[in-house]
Order: sequence, then C-alpha cells, then structure tokens
Amino acid sequence: MLGLEGKTAIVTGAGRGIGRDIALTLGEYGVDVAVVDVDIAGAGETVSQLVGMGRAGLALECDVSDTGQAQRCIDEVLKWHDQIHILVNNAGITRDNLLLRMSEQEWRSVIDVNLTGTFNFTKAVSKHMIRKRYGRIVSISSVIGLMGNAGQGNYAASKAGIIGFTKAIAKELAARNITVNAIAPGFIETAMTASLPEKRREEMQGMIPLGMFGTGRDVSNIVVFLVSELGGYVTGQVIHCDGGMVMS
Ligand code: NAP
Repeated sequence: MLGLEGKTAIVTGAGRGIGRDIALTLGEYGVDVAVVDVDIAGAGETVSQLVGMGRAGLALECDVSDTGQAQRCIDEVLKWHDQIHILVNNAGITRDNLLLRMSEQEWRSVIDVNLTGTFNFTKAVSKHMIRKRYGRIVSISSVIGLMGNAGQGNYAASKAGIIGFTKAIAKELAARNITVNAIAPGFIETAMTASLPEKRREEMQGMIPLGMFGTGRDVSNIVVFLVSELGGYVTGQVIHCDGGMVMS
C-alpha cells in the first residue's frame, strides 16, 4: 500500500541521531538505503543495522558541503542501484553564538553544511530523477527556521533557507513527478537533550503544548508519509513535527 518495497534512498547525516532513525525506518518499509556521513564509522554502524534487518545498505563518507563529494556520492549510489527514488537531506550542524560574537567561520560553516549541503545533494540527484520522471525529496529544517532563536542566527537562516529552497524547487520539479517537501522538527530526544539538566528539560517541555519531546521516529514517520504513495499529492510543504510549538 505504501509502495516503498524495493525502492532506493539516500539519507545524509545518517551516521547517528535522527538521520539514522530515518534510514532504519525506511529500511523497515523495504527501502535500501545509502547512508551518507562525514563519520564513516557511524555510517557503517547504520548499514550494519540495515543489513541485520534484511535490507541492503551502502556507507559513504562525504562532507555534504563539498559539491564534488556530493556528486561522487550520487555516482556511487547509481553504480550500486540503478535508480534513486528518495533523497533525505538531514545532515546539519549548529555553531551557536550571539550576533556580535559570531565569527564569519561560525556563520559560513552552518550555512555551508545545512543549506549548501541541501543544494548540493538536491541538484546532483535531480538530474537523475528528472531523467527517470520520478523522485521524492525531503529536507530537514527546524522550528528555529520558522520562529528564530537568540544565539542561533546562522542556524535559523540556514533552516529558513531550506524552506524557501524547498518551495522554489518543488515548483521547478513538479512537472517531472518529483515532490519536494521539508519537515520542521521541534525539540527531539537526542544525546544532547538527554544530557540537559532536569530543570532545563522541564522548561523546554513547558514550551510544547503536547508536553513532551518528540523522537526520531516521529520525524521518520512523516518522512515515510511524504515519500510513500500516501504523500504523492503533497509538494512544496513544510510539515511541523513539534508537539504544537509552532502553529500557522
Ligand atoms: P546529530 O545527532 O548531530 O547528527 C547529525 C549527523 O550529521 C552526524 O552523524 C554528523 O556527523 C553528520 N554531519 C555533520 N556534518 C556533516 C557534513 N558536513 N556532511 C555529512 N554529514 C555531516 O543531529 P540530529 O539531532 O540527529 O539532527 C539531524 C537533523 O535534524 C539536523 O539537520 C538538525 O538541524 C535537525 N533538527 C534536529 C533537532 C533536534 O532536536 N535534534 C530539531 C530540529 C531539527 P558527526 O557526528 O561526525 O558530526
């Protein structure tokens, strides 16, 4: 019913965290996954888990902000499997600082990985998807790209940039049967949120109408919807996954 069995996906930043959850969830639905990460050991571990589930996986070491490396990844995946049906742009970093203290390096590194990385992979895979007249592209933005946050000017700009990029490219590629969407997660349970002091966790939970952090699985479930037959008529959208933090 979902139409995902036997499809091939690329998930960037899938060596741990939400990206690994997305890769493994797609694997559960019958998708073979190319796992892209700067951390090849993490990517290898995700692939081991996919193989343990009976799926095929390919670990690729890549800095998504490097245009040449991104193109080489797409070429490698096309040598492995002859069609790429799904791209999930998930790799992302933070380098937080208040504006007056933020260095050019902190600004550039976040824009380069989060926004240019999304551009690099989307452009490289689009050439192939246009030829095949099929594609599903999902990029992971953030509530911070919708509402801003003091100390995260670089991150907010990169995540808001992903939203504008998603809408523009959705319009460019719609006629080729390629959908392009974004997900804006709120606070998701990760190693970072787990290590926060209890008081800070409670403060953060107080900002969430549903009163709890989300999980990688919550984000992955939306990815599955968007890339499956269920989401075939959805493009250019930003799906919030934040327990009701941002309502618009
Ligand atoms: P994470 O645990 O830090 O995982 C990100 C992965 O991306 C890591 O494996 C990291 O490798 C990799 N990566 C970093 N830079 C890369 C690059 N240049 N090229 C390729 N891979 C790179 O992050 P997460 O919390 O799972 O977040 C995943 C995505 O969701 C990000 O885009 C983030 O902005 C977004 N998001 C997260 C939350 C949240 O609450 N966690 C909320 C909203 C949005 P290393 O381990 O070697 O750095």
